Amino acid sequence: MSKQGRGPNSGRGARKQPQRMCIACRRAGGKRDLIRLVRVADGVKLDETGKQAGRGAYVHPQVDCWERALAGSLIQKALRTKISAENLMTLSASMSALLHMTNETA
Ligand SMILES: [Zn+2]
Repeated sequence: MSKQGRGPNSGRGARKQPQRMCIACRRAGGKRDLIRLVRVADGVKLDETGKQAGRGAYVHPQVDCWERALAGSLIQKALRTKISAENLMTLSASMSALLHMTNETA
């Protein structure tokens, strides 16, 4: 496992840098390590570009984190929104596809 070099002291000024943190395991990660979920007009979706406007939450593209996020309604809490069952299914499907792509065969 490689740790990222940047410590908490590397920031300057009082302004807080928005830290990307997985809503499930609460570990911070780099932009490329986390998948962004974004709240849109009709619910929540995966933001694979990371550029979608709207309130966002991050989760590791790992089954572990994803399931924990779903089980604890962590996405709803993080995005302060409700997700319909239908939306959740779509979201899950997108995430599964993604997990499939990123997962190396163990
Ligand atoms: Zn995580």
